[in-house]
Amino acid sequence: MLKKICSQCSIPSFSSTDEGPWICPNCQADLTNLPSEDAGRDVDSFVRSDFIGKK
Ligand SMILES: [Zn+2]
Repeated sequence: MLKKICSQCSIPSFSSTDEGPWICPNCQADLTNLPSEDAGRDVDSFVRSDFIGKK
């Protein structure tokens, strides 16, 4: 799993691939040319805290 932090709104977005266009789900900024990082466990904690936060 790959992660990019939006350069405009600082919201992290996740994808399984670095290919093709990568658009920020929050502000629609084009993140395609930003370097991606390996999300690894970050995804886990992000998803969990997001889940808990909505409960
Ligand atoms: Zn954004």
